[in-house]
Amino acid sequence: MKFGGTSMAGSERIRRVANIVRRQQAAGHEVAVVVSAMAGETDRLVGFCREANPLYDPAEYDVVVASGEQVTAGLLALTLQALGCKARSWLGWQLPIHTDNVHAKARIEGIDAQALLTSMAAGEIAVIPGFQGLSDHGRITTLGRGGSDTSAVAVAAGIGADRCDIYTDVDGVYTTDPRIVAKARKLKYVTYEEMLELASVGSKVLQTRSVSLAMKEGVRVQVLSSFIDDDATPADEIPGTLIVSDEELARLTENVDMERQLITGIAADKNEAKIILTRVPDRPGAVATIFGPLAGANINVDMIIQNVGRDKGETDVTFTVPSADLLRAQTLLEAQKEAIGYNRIITDGKVAKISVVGVGMKSHAGVAATMFRAMADRGINIQAISTSEIKVSVLIDEDETELAVRVLHSAYGMDAEGEAA
Ligand code: ASP
Ligand code: MG
Repeated sequence: MKFGGTSMAGSERIRRVANIVRRQQAAGHEVAVVVSAMAGETDRLVGFCREANPLYDPAEYDVVVASGEQVTAGLLALTLQALGCKARSWLGWQLPIHTDNVHAKARIEGIDAQALLTSMAAGEIAVIPGFQGLSDHGRITTLGRGGSDTSAVAVAAGIGADRCDIYTDVDGVYTTDPRIVAKARKLKYVTYEEMLELASVGSKVLQTRSVSLAMKEGVRVQVLSSFIDDDATPADEIPGTLIVSDEELARLTENVDMERQLITGIAADKNEAKIILTRVPDRPGAVATIFGPLAGANINVDMIIQNVGRDKGETDVTFTVPSADLLRAQTLLEAQKEAIGYNRIITDGKVAKISVVGVGMKSHAGVAATMFRAMADRGINIQAISTSEIKVSVLIDEDETELAVRVLHSAYGMDAEGEAA
């Protein structure tokens, strides 16, 4: 079980968490709990580091910011004990959770789970601070912001857990942002691949790395809310959204196949910017001279279109980069103007990428056509398109984001009737 910062913010909420944990144990489960720092605490600690030294040493930053989770881990163990449960904390260095030496964004290399397993088998609830680990130089590391999700999945993999339940302030993964579409529905199941696509295009429920890790290790992850009535949810029901493999999804939905929609979710991402280079020479190597330097500068290019059709062997090349990298990309490309041989560079930061995602589209034709038709009917212009096996993305004017999401949500028949399921 993993509890996020909002669930751990203060004694009252920690008591609520302790009760949820106790109920799972009472239902016969052996439980390990991973906790985040109290909401806002990590930001506060990061602020202190900046004040102390603007060019802070990441190794000392880790010493400071890892402390937020140490506090909540100890407090949860104390609260569980007050409820009469056996519980103890296991800090990252005590297990240990081994990481590499890249401070402030370390990667987990392995977990020694034996002591944990022994203590859990003896009926003790294990409480583990998320976000932290131990480098092979013997120093405290942290996993990057939002890293407690990854800690939880790693611990679940390490102890061979049946499931990793991630308790947060939303009650699951939705077909799209419920703030945009009131009729968005909570999904019962979503596959790892779908979750990765939805996360990478803007639905920030879990840290993306935790989903990749769960996929690699085959950890079944449930996202659910910790803000439920005290007497709700018997232990083995799935009140939230279960994130599973394709194979398990097929098994789970075998007899209710009709309920599984063609499209699982729709995501919008306003953090991309468009670049057009006009009149690039249409010859071998031209495109390589554009994208080589961008790659060298670690700028991720996403959608790419190369238009043919100009005469005199010239072509326009359109592509997108993260908005945060737009200025850097533009500067680099301007410096390469001669080498690339383009005529003009045009940039536009006011674009949004809308993606429809679903494993169902692997075996169905017409998903993209439905998307283009629905947008055309509303007069929304499509500036670029990209696809993968389980995703179709289009680039549009940022002002039309909400309209596009709503139009597509109903075009694929995803609007909930009456009460959200
Ligand atoms: N407390 C850390 C953060 O705020 C890690 C986490 O909560 O996942 O980024
Ligand atoms: Mg989080």
